[in-house]
Amino acid sequence: MTETMTVEQARRLLLDRVKPTEVEHVALLDALDRILAKDLASDIDVAPFDNSAMDGFAVRAEDVTGASPDSPVELTVIEDIPAGHAPQRTVGSGEASRIMTGAPVPQGADAVVMIEYSRSFERDGVTVVSLERAAAPSENVRRRGEEVRAGDVVVTAGEKLGPAAIGLLAATGHPLVPVHRRPRVAVLATGSELVEVAEKPGPGKIRNSNSYSIAAQVLAAGAEPVRYGIVADDLEVTREAFARAVEETDFIVTSGGVSVGDYDFVKPVLEQMGEMLYCKVAMRPGNPQTMGTIRGVPFFGLPGNPTSTYVGFEVFVRPALRLMQGHRELDRPVVRAVLEHDVRKKPDRRYYLRGRLAPAESGGYSVALSGSQSSALLTAAHRGNCFVVLPEGEREFAAGTIVDCMRVDIDEGTPV
Ligand code: AMP
Ligand code: MG
Repeated sequence: MTETMTVEQARRLLLDRVKPTEVEHVALLDALDRILAKDLASDIDVAPFDNSAMDGFAVRAEDVTGASPDSPVELTVIEDIPAGHAPQRTVGSGEASRIMTGAPVPQGADAVVMIEYSRSFERDGVTVVSLERAAAPSENVRRRGEEVRAGDVVVTAGEKLGPAAIGLLAATGHPLVPVHRRPRVAVLATGSELVEVAEKPGPGKIRNSNSYSIAAQVLAAGAEPVRYGIVADDLEVTREAFARAVEETDFIVTSGGVSVGDYDFVKPVLEQMGEMLYCKVAMRPGNPQTMGTIRGVPFFGLPGNPTSTYVGFEVFVRPALRLMQGHRELDRPVVRAVLEHDVRKKPDRRYYLRGRLAPAESGGYSVALSGSQSSALLTAAHRGNCFVVLPEGEREFAAGTIVDCMRVDIDEGTPV
């Protein structure tokens, strides 16, 4: 099947062929920003006991009814309860226990009066507190099980683990957390013109920048890049590189070698070793997007031009890597913006132009192209924060037109 796909068809075919990686258990802190793979419940009530929300005096609310600066209520102080200590005494009528924030509320008491409204003194060898304020029942008391009850689910499968979730999982007894393993992603750059970054390119050579931009995109997507270096334009070398990547990784990404040049070996080798599902998508940049599988391992061949590579990764590979990690949100947020320039395009393809969104004076957003749109140049992608998405079927977009912008500067699922 090699006819030209729409972006949606191409994405569907890819996403249908990836599945979440297996579940692994990682140390709680290593789970930050990952997706929980199973519902997790609490082993205890949180809070585990009724406790004081303030430093003050634990009292029976009925004893301090009507207390005020003009008519303070005096109570006998029977105990001092710091945080971490179990109260030993029951608060009776006319009595109070001095209590610190987080300490268990003693038997008999049902409210706490803040220390700011108290004055303590000794009288006949007994500590007395004079309270200038009433307290309603439960005032300044945090109830047992207020956050969660033993057995209740605290964080649900599919939820992203931010710092607050990490705290909840700590409070509920989860030193290890089940998450989907980070996919290992093979990054192969094809091209006999490529040299390593540390080298000065000789005649006819260029630096292999795609391996780095792709590996960075893999990392940004939460996955683990495995860089295989440069793959020369040679049938046997290409076959060996793919064979190794299939053994060692969960997903293979290549750059270059997918045109119709005499030295483009990605497609023939893919067809020999596995299945090729498509090799053309009606988009620009990056019409030669190539997708297939080799022995069950998803394969995505990005075009060689640096911006085609960059855009193709964002549109296809990133959503696939998110799916593999259990994310529910696969799409970057899209906002509408007023286009600042006239733009002409070919009607047969969808364009993803690199643009920069900014707040418009009249409210909403405006968007300007962020530099030359040549697919060989990366600067506009660096300066930009979005892709201006211009649909297939249309040719001309006059300045002032409202266009969709795919935001590549914020995470999928961010409300916009
Ligand atoms: P290809 O698809 O192999 O014909 O490559 C298309 C264009 O992208 C050519 O100008 C290549 O030199 C360039 N290119 C291919 N691979 C890379 C790479 N790894 N880094 C930077 N540019 C590349
Ligand atoms: Mg090439």
